Amino acid sequence: MSHDAAEPTTQPESDGESILSVRDLEKYYPVHSGILGRQTGAVRAVDGVSFDLQQGETLAVVGESGCGKSTMAETLIGLNDVTGGDIRFRGDSIADGVDKAFRREVQMIFQDPFSTLNERMTVGRIVAEPLVIHNEQEEDRAAYVRNLLDTVGLDGDEQYEAFPHELSGGQRQRVGIARALALNPSLVVADEPVSALDVSIKAGVLGLLEDLQEEFGLTYLIITHDMSVVRQIADRVAVMYLGELVEVGPVEELFSDPQHPYTEALLSSVPRVTADPEPDDRIELPGSPPDPANPPEGCRFHTRCHLRERLNDDEAARCVDETPELREVAGRELACHFRPE
Ligand code: ADP
Ligand code: MG
Repeated sequence: MSHDAAEPTTQPESDGESILSVRDLEKYYPVHSGILGRQTGAVRAVDGVSFDLQQGETLAVVGESGCGKSTMAETLIGLNDVTGGDIRFRGDSIADGVDKAFRREVQMIFQDPFSTLNERMTVGRIVAEPLVIHNEQEEDRAAYVRNLLDTVGLDGDEQYEAFPHELSGGQRQRVGIARALALNPSLVVADEPVSALDVSIKAGVLGLLEDLQEEFGLTYLIITHDMSVVRQIADRVAVMYLGELVEVGPVEELFSDPQHPYTEALLSSVPRVTADPEPDDRIELPGSPPDPANPPEGCRFHTRCHLRERLNDDEAARCVDETPELREVAGRELACHFRPE
């Protein structure tokens, strides 16, 4: 694999092949209680999630805080052991652990550029670290890293010797992106990559991610609670509620014609553009999500669903009695008994 950062890879933008395939994925965290600390239950953080990621696409995963987005991302990159189900990367299962090739090919960009960079290391060393760990022998590692810094919109000559505290939030996140790219990955998982940044620099970092995708043929899985991020960067969106996916489809379809009542609620909670925009359009729905250690029977959203209020008693009972499965409908996948009407 080439390690010249300026050299585009030969990967096609999208060849319709799935790079990541997730089936019935479960990740539960045990809950212990009592003086003996016995396991008394489990937080069902990810509870039966299935989707495919196509080579070269950007899938955004959205949902309220606590719905399991970060747990899913961590599980997909092999940071968590899997409770159930399967994850296949280019056809090979990683449910029982990841190998060295996977650790190079799949990289993560973290949310907080203030806590994820080692303050005692220079920018040059931070970005070179994955190369050191993977024992990459470039002819000139420093030149490679400087080039990579230029690629992410920093000044390689100037900032190679800088320390993180000398950089702004946006510059720090660019360092995190450079580090994620150092091993020339094919899949990048980004957990809230711009939510710690000022609005004024968000768009620039998202634009950079888009440019890098084009240049290096990257596939993105982007976790966000910010619908404006979805609109700018995603091809498809997966809506997550209490550990499950409730609607998955192309961004235009979901934004113009949301079918799941939860997707509708999420979109209607996006603040209108005003002269004084919110620094962060955090999703806020009435009421709080139920406890993922004890989720509602049937459709997990039924306790907060505005559609259910309009159903007759028999119909409304179905939402409690029967779990809706994701099915293909209206150009997307949807898990609701009563949509489309
Ligand atoms: P999100 O990223 O969507 O905000 P998380 O994946 O962080 O959601 O959390 C999903 C659920 O799992 C939450 O109820 C959270 O409290 C719980 N959780 C997350 N990490 C752990 C952990 N390490 N141990 C126990 N529970 C956890
Ligand atoms: Mg999270």
